Amino acid sequence: MENTRTKKLKKSEYLKGWIPLRYMRYYVAFFATAFTLIIPWVTVNGNHFFLLSFIDFRFHFFFITFDMQELYLLPFLLMILFIGVFGITVLGGRMFCGWFCPQTIFRVVFRDFIETKIFKLRKRIKNKQVEPDYSKPINQLKGVGVLILSIALAFVAAADALWFFIPPEQFFDFALNITDHSIFMTAWLGITGFLVYDIVFLKENFCVYVCPYSRIQSVLYDDDTIMAIYDNSRGGQIYNDNHEKLINKQAELAPADLCTTCESCVTVCPTHIDIRQGLQLECINCLECVDACTEIMAKFNQPSLVNWSSVREIEKHEGKTRFFRPKILGYGAVLTGIFVILMVMGSAKELMLININKQTRLYDIEKVDGKAMVKNAYTVLIQNTQNVPHEFFIEVVNNDKIKIMRPSHPFTIKPGIKTKKTLVLYTTQKLADSDRKDTILEVQLRAYALDDKEKIFAIRDIRFTYPRADILEKKMSRE
Ligand code: SF4
Ligand code: SF4
Repeated sequence: MENTRTKKLKKSEYLKGWIPLRYMRYYVAFFATAFTLIIPWVTVNGNHFFLLSFIDFRFHFFFITFDMQELYLLPFLLMILFIGVFGITVLGGRMFCGWFCPQTIFRVVFRDFIETKIFKLRKRIKNKQVEPDYSKPINQLKGVGVLILSIALAFVAAADALWFFIPPEQFFDFALNITDHSIFMTAWLGITGFLVYDIVFLKENFCVYVCPYSRIQSVLYDDDTIMAIYDNSRGGQIYNDNHEKLINKQAELAPADLCTTCESCVTVCPTHIDIRQGLQLECINCLECVDACTEIMAKFNQPSLVNWSSVREIEKHEGKTRFFRPKILGYGAVLTGIFVILMVMGSAKELMLININKQTRLYDIEKVDGKAMVKNAYTVLIQNTQNVPHEFFIEVVNNDKIKIMRPSHPFTIKPGIKTKKTLVLYTTQKLADSDRKDTILEVQLRAYALDDKEKIFAIRDIRFTYPRADILEKKMSRE
């Protein structure tokens, strides 16, 4: 194994091509924000990428629309979400928190961009411990500006969150008629108010005290989970196992220990912890401390003492981190399986909904032109789940002796509307000759949209009851 304790690197070589992890997080945050702002506006044939609409009770996923009766897909999505988050945690600790969580992204925008860059209320992005001094009148004025800008951004963020439940086209209709949509307005104001409180006043306390994810993460970690980790063996032991600080000045360290006690890794930490104490619940894996120590140690031609690595590599010195370990492969296999099931079920989706139930009366018998006509009646619930009106028709597929009496003509259904129809099947042919019991015949029906019969259709199997021979004879001899 390479001895990092004695590894010497030239400064110019060492920082050559080095990109602070903070910048990578900014790029990820930028693309995640752009994606969530743009995607609600993108539609294909009127269908959204993701929309759980409580207005018309429909669910859009991957540009396919599902009726609420078809929400059998939602549990699969929830499974993907939970198993995915567990898998990511095993692999990269609280990587989601540091890189993708909206809370972290909002805090970076608020603290690093609005407070520091625009209003210069904080002196340096690298020192997150010194809060703005609001005792000065000029800073109080700037504070009002910060609040106004934050409220404006919170309104946009809250609107964006709502666009996944109320599509933008309806959202702006509602916003122009707020008196008619008080629940909508309450939701928008409520989310905005929460965001302002969370980002401006609650800050990272949300991650530390409120978010349930921080509670479960530590039980998922193993020796190969990558996280921000301080190298005691190179830097020196700053804390004991009871988290009591042993070292305050570099002079107190052994000569070979490399930590300068500059505290750069501490002052940069948004959750106000010292990574040299080891893994802590508060760490959101933002890796700011890794960047800070990388810059400090580069001045001494040394690699960082705080690394984005694993216990196996840094603490146990047991070689490289094992990314492809059984646990991760297991999560990957389960996720792939669920995803495949989701895709298969999603692609097998029918583009119309139909329910056919037999009415309580078993059959009717009439004498027509000297022949017995047997009729069976059904109640049909049919829904046009598309975004345009269609003319629908129903036909018998597998039995040319059974015909449809009602509905005899195609009927139009508007988009999203569910209609009730009575379906009457009849036959004048002798389909069975049993004196002991009625005969049940399997009949296959095909309902379809006349203008797109290859795509918008549904097949249903129903039962047609043909009467006993003696009942039929009695009826015919009476009439
Ligand atoms: S210790 Fe602080 S700075 Fe370092 S990764 Fe954790 S939260 Fe970020
Ligand atoms: S930034 Fe590095 S050198 Fe400075 S205190 Fe932290 S671990 Fe030690």
